[in-house]
Amino acid sequence: MTASPKIQPNPGAASAALMVNPNVAALPAYNAGMSLARARLLSGHDDLARLASNENPDGCAPAVLAALANGGFEPWRYADPACTALREALAARLGVDAGVIVAGNGSEEMIAAISRGVLVAGSQVVTVVPSFGLHEIEPLAAGASVLKVPMTVDAGFDLAALEAAIAAGPRVVFLSSPWNPVGPALDKSALQRLIAAVRPGTLFVLDEAYFEYADADAPDGIESLRNSGIAFVVLRTFSKAYGLAGLRVGYAVCSDPEIARVITAAKTPFNVNGAAQIAAVAALEDEAWMTASVARIRSERDRVALALAGMGLHAAASQTNFLFFDTRHDSSIVAAALLQDGIIVKAWRELGYETWLRVTIGKPADNDRLIASLQKQVAG
Ligand SMILES: *Cc1c(COP(=O)(O)O)cnc(C)c1O
Repeated sequence: MTASPKIQPNPGAASAALMVNPNVAALPAYNAGMSLARARLLSGHDDLARLASNENPDGCAPAVLAALANGGFEPWRYADPACTALREALAARLGVDAGVIVAGNGSEEMIAAISRGVLVAGSQVVTVVPSFGLHEIEPLAAGASVLKVPMTVDAGFDLAALEAAIAAGPRVVFLSSPWNPVGPALDKSALQRLIAAVRPGTLFVLDEAYFEYADADAPDGIESLRNSGIAFVVLRTFSKAYGLAGLRVGYAVCSDPEIARVITAAKTPFNVNGAAQIAAVAALEDEAWMTASVARIRSERDRVALALAGMGLHAAASQTNFLFFDTRHDSSIVAAALLQDGIIVKAWRELGYETWLRVTIGKPADNDRLIASLQKQVAG
């Protein structure tokens, strides 16, 4: 058999004739970091400390793997498009009606669906900088313009500036608390102050991807918002503390069924696959595994923060599974040196924050590698 000739691409002619959505064509790329294969190639290390994506170094609950093996997963069937079992389990856990919960292919998909369902060309959106990339990218894709409120000099939320930006009446506010990439969480009174600034016509989206890692006295967004009278969505995910990043499952808790209906209409119908639905229900049933993992990671986080401070690298206060700090050098150079020691981290690339580095808390041995490699750089 002879090989069939390859089709020769002619991108110039094809793209000259094709009209594309200019909002999408102009989007900045999402900074998803380096592939494992490339990191291995560049570093010469096979055994990498993967501290770039805020994954759970403890893995996931053994009960999840057991449920995937024995839980009736049928790859040849379309899974329940309404995610009924998962939404009912969440409704019972959270004390809300299942009708206000929408499950997503990761909470990222919910950010996309909110943007598609709520925003139109010219809509205004408010978020923060440094920002979680999709809080900007998805609104831009919908043709909105995005105002980013910078963090304060001591790496906190600028409450006065946020209050003013929210009171100006944007169509959507996207805030993560605890804040990715910085780390702090809004306290109860700060959250109340921002909620009080929301005007009719604004949807307040509180992204609580790191909720499980927050301090015991941090506010629960659902509790704080449920009787606020404003239009809101709280986002949570199974990707971080529950350790299911690769399966893709998160959810939106909405202020009312009409917002849930619009988000549902804006997503794809079979968005959460069957394995993810089974795994998420099993993960909820083994909360003890998750809380033990969170406790280990929080104590490692405090140990790493102390070691960094000992080198003069003062990380922002963190209620998450990562630390964010100013290296006072181009952080991509620091990251490249860490990679030579087999450690992958995230050098921040947003304008004004190119000296900052975000490092995920890993297993104790990975954290020791990070500390040793940074000590070498600081000394050198
Ligand atoms: C990691 C993260 C997410 C989400 O992830 P999914 O894996 O899509 O659920 C959402 N928001 C923030 C702020 C995150 O850091």
